[in-house]
Amino acid sequence: MPELPEVETVCRGLRDTVIGKRILGVTVNAPAASIVVSRQVQPQDFAPALFDRTILTVNRRGKNILIGLSGGVTLWVHLKMTGHFFYEKQMPTPDKHDLVVFQLSQPEDRDLTARKGNPVPSYLRFNDYRRFGRLRLYTDDELWQQKGLKELGPEPLEISAKDFVTLAHRRPRQLKAALLDQSFIAGVGNIYADESLWAASLHPKRLTSKVPAKQLAELHRHIQRLLRLAIRRNGTSVDSYSNVNGEAGSFQRYLKVYGREGEPCRRCGGKIVRKKLGARSAHYCPGCQRPGRVGVR
Ligand SMILES: [Zn+2]
Repeated sequence: MPELPEVETVCRGLRDTVIGKRILGVTVNAPAASIVVSRQVQPQDFAPALFDRTILTVNRRGKNILIGLSGGVTLWVHLKMTGHFFYEKQMPTPDKHDLVVFQLSQPEDRDLTARKGNPVPSYLRFNDYRRFGRLRLYTDDELWQQKGLKELGPEPLEISAKDFVTLAHRRPRQLKAALLDQSFIAGVGNIYADESLWAASLHPKRLTSKVPAKQLAELHRHIQRLLRLAIRRNGTSVDSYSNVNGEAGSFQRYLKVYGREGEPCRRCGGKIVRKKLGARSAHYCPGCQRPGRVGVR
């Protein structure tokens, strides 16, 4: 599943390609559950509700993409497992996994049309072969009241080390579970949780309330370091993830534990394991991420 660095990369790609463009047409091929249009958005049909709106902003919150449109409406997108946006300069060949295709004007379209009567459209495909991705349309006023956004915790790249420690000490829970909980911090998933815990030499099952402040501050530092590095590398492509131009990220080269089950630990030479922790699993090194052991650098 795309996590913060991957979603951030997609947002940056969208900013470079679609801001300022007007929606000329929308083709929908999505299951009914994939699309929600709020009662306050008029009309309440997805395609007509988007028609003629201009794309003004693209922002990320946690793993959510928020596309601000003219008329006070936001298109809220969650990529879930395999959702992708692909930007196309020419009409794309139809793909059965394209759930929605947006036809967009060029920013100067109105003038161009007036001058030459010949607009040059571009296209944005929302493609998702597993079809878990979600597109929702809300008025800007009601957006932040929605479940999935309103309960989000702080952004990991914005929270201070001190606040992170306070948050972690507030109630006891396993470190890995806390990092995955979007209401604890927003945007971290399996990859960056496992990598950060390894970097901080912390066992994924240790209780947040029992880890000393100094080690939690160290974890906070590694989370920020790894997320920033991954954004610079355009994310991790271990599954199907790519940016809006179809290019893969390269952070997978830097992974120390995620997807390295059975391989030697790069720090102590021990064998990396993948173990079930509740409903999820964690990759870690039992040699240098000991339960209750003070972190080693
Ligand atoms: Zn190790």
